[in-house]
Amino acid sequence: MADVTLDGLRKEFDRGTIVAVDDIDLEIEDGEFVTVVGPSGCGKTTTLRMVAGLEEPTAGRVLFDGEDVTDIHAKDRPVAMVFQNYALYPHKTVLENMEFGLRMSTDMAKEERHERVREMAEMMGIEELLEDSPDELSGGQKQRVALGRAIVREPEVFLFDEPLSNLDAKLRTEMRAEIQKLQKEFDVTAMYVTHDQEEAMTMGDRLAILDGGKLQQVGEPTEVYENPVNEFVAGFIGSPSMNFLEVTVERDGSAVRLTNRDVGFEFELSQEYVTGHELADTTYTLGVRPENIDISERITGEETMTATVEVVEPIGSDNYVHLDVTPDFLARSDPSIRPEPDDEVGVDFREADIHLFHPETGKDVF
Ligand code: ATP
Repeated sequence: MADVTLDGLRKEFDRGTIVAVDDIDLEIEDGEFVTVVGPSGCGKTTTLRMVAGLEEPTAGRVLFDGEDVTDIHAKDRPVAMVFQNYALYPHKTVLENMEFGLRMSTDMAKEERHERVREMAEMMGIEELLEDSPDELSGGQKQRVALGRAIVREPEVFLFDEPLSNLDAKLRTEMRAEIQKLQKEFDVTAMYVTHDQEEAMTMGDRLAILDGGKLQQVGEPTEVYENPVNEFVAGFIGSPSMNFLEVTVERDGSAVRLTNRDVGFEFELSQEYVTGHELADTTYTLGVRPENIDISERITGEETMTATVEVVEPIGSDNYVHLDVTPDFLARSDPSIRPEPDDEVGVDFREADIHLFHPETGKDVF
């Protein structure tokens, strides 16, 4: 197996007018599963293609186990790639598709190749499909074949480019678990690209979050969720998204409050918080996750703010309560609390659950 290093990796297109990947440094440990996630166009696929050797970097290097592979051709790198569209050869059978990589990259005898493919097909539960042609298969079966074809080559690095995007939600969940199981079983280093933050949260040992070609944050899913480094990461990771509200720092003697007079928001910070954070007398973006908001159907005058309920969406385990606070404020509440539209409710949260993002840099001031 191999660790993978991206060292100042950069890719420009159209004579430098498009910077698809902007000087990325990333180290993926041997056997680690790193999910690269970000919105459409942020440079995920281009990054992955440079690791595969399918795209030449404008600057920077790719290293496997410390060895520079930047100039090594894709077919000579110990990688296997799985794509969204499966990329199966339509005129070959499943068996022929699965053995193709072995046939091209090794001088293994036919019997041995077929034996290896059969073993893999059995593991993936697709042994009855070996004589079928790809157009007879469902999407899930095709992706199993593509996965089997990749693993059978025993790559050192596994690259996935949105492999589950064409599957329905149930199958996606199933395949997520299957991919992780295979990756751990074969102890392969994996890089997995997705635009779906939920998929990223459930799959990676660590997430690498990209925006505008730049690496924003790398960390374990819970770490990124709890301590996003900036407003972009905070808003991108988590579903439903974090709520944001512009707040101003107001001082009154030793008391420091965050306020937004337009929506009647007033939150007094504790002295510990104030001494622990360097707050300027300016406007910050406050962030709080929906599950950290307490809704109260009884107004006491002590609450951080009051708001009018717009819509209540029951999702079984919880209710999503949409509030009339601009831009969009959503509380995830216990099903026992079920206000009606147009009800006025109290809104509160704990100081420990708030994030404050710097007005210019977007960085979390924690
Ligand atoms: P998506 O999720 O939509 O696939 P992505 O995050 O994978 O997006 P990339 O496909 O890596 O993003 O593209 C990053 C940027 O580079 C985009 O602005 C894209 O238009 C541009 N780009 C990618 N390939 C080329 C190319 N061959 N020529 C010109 N521009 C390109």
